Amino acid sequence: MSRALPVGEALASILQICPVLPAVEVPYTEAGGRVLQEPIRADQDYPGFEKAMMDGFAVRAADLRSTPATLRVIQEIPAGTDPGRLREVGPGQVARIMTGAPLPPGADAVLMVEETTPADRDAGADEDAERVICRSGVEPGANVARRGEDVRAGQTLLEPGDYVGAAEIAVLAACGRTRVRVGGRPRVAVLATGDELVPADRIPGPGRIRNSNGPLLVELARRAGAETHPRGIAPDRRDALRAEIEAGLQGDMLLLSGGVSMGRYDLVGETLQAAGVTLRFEAVAIKPGRPFTFGHRGPTLVFGCPGNPVSSYVIFQIFARPALRRMMGFAEPSPLPQQGVLTAPVRQRGGRDGYYQARARFAGAGWEVTVLPTTGSADFVSCARGNALAILPADARSLPAGASVGLILLDDHADR
Ligand code: AMP
Ligand code: MG
Repeated sequence: MSRALPVGEALASILQICPVLPAVEVPYTEAGGRVLQEPIRADQDYPGFEKAMMDGFAVRAADLRSTPATLRVIQEIPAGTDPGRLREVGPGQVARIMTGAPLPPGADAVLMVEETTPADRDAGADEDAERVICRSGVEPGANVARRGEDVRAGQTLLEPGDYVGAAEIAVLAACGRTRVRVGGRPRVAVLATGDELVPADRIPGPGRIRNSNGPLLVELARRAGAETHPRGIAPDRRDALRAEIEAGLQGDMLLLSGGVSMGRYDLVGETLQAAGVTLRFEAVAIKPGRPFTFGHRGPTLVFGCPGNPVSSYVIFQIFARPALRRMMGFAEPSPLPQQGVLTAPVRQRGGRDGYYQARARFAGAGWEVTVLPTTGSADFVSCARGNALAILPADARSLPAGASVGLILLDDHADR
C-alpha cells in the first residue's frame, strides 16, 4: 500500500472508477460550463425569410443597370415587419428597408443607404411621390441573406458531448431550446482536518493557523463546475472526524485536507477505512503532494489531500479536477499539457515528477515558463503568483534555461 504510484497510474486508477453522473434537464440559462447530453437541431431555417443585411433600399437590380437612377419609394420596412404584409416592388420602385427586415416581393437586392440621395420633392406632391436617387448598381442578391443561408431546419447545430459556453447558450436561445439535457453537477463536500485550524474569521491562538485549504478546495471545486458543500474543520480525533467524514460521504466527492501523512495524529486514512471507504492508494510519486490518499465508497470518490497548501492545490488540479470533469461528462477530463521553454535553469531533488508553480507567458512562437521561487509546499502565497504548473519529470535533476518542459495552464490562467 505504501508504494508511491506514478502520477499517470494514479490518475488512470481514479478515472477508471470515476462514474459519469446521469444527465439532467436544466433551464438553458443554467447550462453554461456543463456538457451537452443531447443533439440540438434547428427548429426552422435561419434566417427564416429573405432578409436585408444593410440599411438602404430594396431594389430590383435590373432597374439599376444604368445609374444614377431616380426611383419611387413605395414603402418603409422596419425590422420585425410581417413578410406577408409587404407590397410588391414593381419596376421603377424601391422600398426603404432596415437591416434585419424581410425583403419585399419583386425586390432582389438591397442598395445601401450610403449609395443613395433623397430626390427633391416636387412642390405640392403627395407622400407617395417620394423619390430616391440611386448612384450605383447592385448585383441580384446583393446585401440579402437567403432563407436558410445560415442554418437549415433540422440541421444538427450542437452534439452530445459539446461544452456549453456563451456561444452555445446563444444557439439554444436562438432555437428556443429553453430546457436542455446536460451532464450532472457533482456534489462535493470539503472538509479540512487538523487540531491547529481555526476559521478564517478568527484570530489564531498560539500554535494555531487559519484554515486556508478548505476555502481553497471549495473555490477550486466550484470553478470546476461542482455544487460545493463546505463542511468546515474536523479535529484530529477519531470520533469527531468519523462523524464529519460520514456526512461528507453523502455526495459524489469528498475532498479532505490534512491528516494523511505518517504522524501520530494523521487519522484520515484509518478513519476513512473505518467508514467503509476502500483506499486505492496512499502515496503518489509527485512533488509536492506525495501522501495523497485516494479511495471510494460506492460511487463516492474520496481525495485525501496533504495539508500543505501547495500540495492540496496541486493534487486538486492534477487529480480531482479531471475526476469532476469526468463526472460531468467531459470526453477529455484531463488538462491538455502544453510544452513551454524555461526562462531560467531549474533544479529538483528528483525521484518524483515535480509540478511547480510557474508563470507562463505566450511569447510569439510558444510558451515561456518561469518556475517561481518558493520556500516549499507550505508556501501558500506561491500559488497566488502562478498561472500554470511546470512539469519536471522524475529523472530530471536539473534543466537549463531554454529546456522544454510540460506545462499545465490552470483554468484561470488567462485571468491572472
Ligand atoms: P498535515 O497534512 O495534516 O500533516 O498538515 C501538513 C501541514 O499543512 C501542517 O503544517 C498543517 O498545519 C498545514 N495545514 C493542514 N491543514 C491546513 C489547512 N486547512 N489550511 C492551511 N494549512 C493547513
Ligand atoms: Mg494535520
